[in-house]
Amino acid sequence: MSAATKKSAGAAEHFDVLIVGAGISGVGAAYHLKHQTPGTTFVALEAQDSFGGTWITHKYPGIRSDSDLHTFGYRFKPWVGPPIASAAEILRYMDEVIEENGLNPHIRYGHTITNAAWSSADNLWTITATRKSDGATKVFTTGFLWMCQGYYRHGQGYTPNWPGMSDFKGRIVHPQTWPDDLDYKGKRMIVIGSGATAATLIPAVANETSHVTMLQRSPTYFIPGRNAIEIAEQLRALDVDEEWVHEITRRQILKTQDDFTRRSKEEPEAVKAELLAGVKMFLGENYDIEKHFTPKYRPWRQRIAFIPDGDLFQGIASGKASVVTDEIERFTEKGILLKSGQELEADIIVTATGFDLSPQGDIGFTVDGKVVEMKDTITYRGMMFTGLPNLVWVFGYFRASWTLRVDIVADFVCRLLKHMKKIGTKRVEVAIPEKLKDMELLSWIDPEDFNPGYIMRGIHLLPRRGALREWQHTQDYWHEKDELPNIDLDGEEFIYGKAKVEA
Ligand SMILES: Cc1cc2nc3c(=O)[nH]c(=O)nc-3n(C[C@H](O)[C@H](O)[C@H](O)COP(=O)(O)OP(=O)(O)OC[C@H]3O[C@@H](n4cnc5c(N)ncnc54)[C@H](O)[C@@H]3O)c2cc1C
Repeated sequence: MSAATKKSAGAAEHFDVLIVGAGISGVGAAYHLKHQTPGTTFVALEAQDSFGGTWITHKYPGIRSDSDLHTFGYRFKPWVGPPIASAAEILRYMDEVIEENGLNPHIRYGHTITNAAWSSADNLWTITATRKSDGATKVFTTGFLWMCQGYYRHGQGYTPNWPGMSDFKGRIVHPQTWPDDLDYKGKRMIVIGSGATAATLIPAVANETSHVTMLQRSPTYFIPGRNAIEIAEQLRALDVDEEWVHEITRRQILKTQDDFTRRSKEEPEAVKAELLAGVKMFLGENYDIEKHFTPKYRPWRQRIAFIPDGDLFQGIASGKASVVTDEIERFTEKGILLKSGQELEADIIVTATGFDLSPQGDIGFTVDGKVVEMKDTITYRGMMFTGLPNLVWVFGYFRASWTLRVDIVADFVCRLLKHMKKIGTKRVEVAIPEKLKDMELLSWIDPEDFNPGYIMRGIHLLPRRGALREWQHTQDYWHEKDELPNIDLDGEEFIYGKAKVEA
């Protein structure tokens, strides 16, 4: 170990708030802290070399949002481009937020947090991080830990272990770790999966590969449409300020999504028919939509990707891409043998099979020396957790844009920090009130309501929820936007400790 390493390892730095990660949540947290709690010292520690999280991790061709940027963008910074945006456009937008608000000095890149230890004696978290540049261990102390680490492991994606994978003579690639040198020009590609990633990747490569096949076990819903929002176009044509365009367009989108979510529950068959009609428009009457694009579940039980200008379907209609709905028996030298007996040949197989859930950002937590894992806690509104003092996690929405929750959770955190200052306490924890001690405890999310593969695979790692909505992540922006600002911080679920006695 060098002298410099030893030096940096020894000195603990203190910040009032420490943010984990500089993705869209971490950068949003930093913005709100700076504007809503001036004077609060804070730092965001980010494992990667730059900001963006999801949007720098994923580098596969065509990488783009699957929801609109008026609501995936922050409420405080207008989105001025087409609603579905590429990763590069999202990064540019985040860069502007960082620049315009002087957030750069508050972010430290190349710092992977490994441990977080809470001490009730000091009312402090001690955070241990590894600095990438020299491998040094850096120690920080903080009064409040703001978890913005997302929900999946960034280092690697999830690939099932199919028989015969090592027999395949071509290349197997996961979209999360897309190799820079992957040459797919003129090659035959199979993309396993039919989620948003597959739907983005396939049209992006279809013109260059000799053929691309989307291989799915079961179909998914999609919403094809024009990559434009009429009301935004109309307002811009009238020279309305972008701040207004952003706000009005957000409201219109949220109203439409609210109606859609409600209708998906109340009249699923009608919604299903509308979604399938959208696909039929591109693929025509003779295409087997029943087999390849009619899911068995009701709409909204999994996230529905928006397909700008129906590009996925255009690729299929042109014959450059095709869909196979079948199950994998095993990999072969040449490709994939299906349960039906058909063999699909390929040069490249892309496993768009999802994520590895990582609720703690791979951080080991202890509270007064005892290991605490997220799975052992009960969530308060999907933000705070029993047994984890002075900690909030931003877990966004799945049925609406993630970032809507970044803004409203930030309002809550800033209000909580100000409240703690006002009442002179340095510790807050949530606990289930005595009168609710017999409340039924359930899994993080109701699988009947929402059940994507990565959540189902990792549900045992997630905190539990209670039977009452205060003790759940409801995934319901439309109620939360009013509920969160009205939380009574003196309510019985908040346990405040005594103020630390200053020496
Ligand atoms: C390809 C793709 C497309 C998506 N499209 C949409 C969309 O259109 N709309 C939508 O609403 N949602 C979308 N999502 C979901 C998306 O992940 C979230 O919306 C959002 O980007 C998450 O932001 P985040 O900042 O909370 O987490 P992330 O983007 O996951 O960022 C977390 C950051 O924390 C860092 N980190 C984690 N652990 C540590 C640690 N121990 N120490 C230091 N740093 C750490 C990571 O390196 C990362 O940079 C998409 C997801 C994917 C994968």
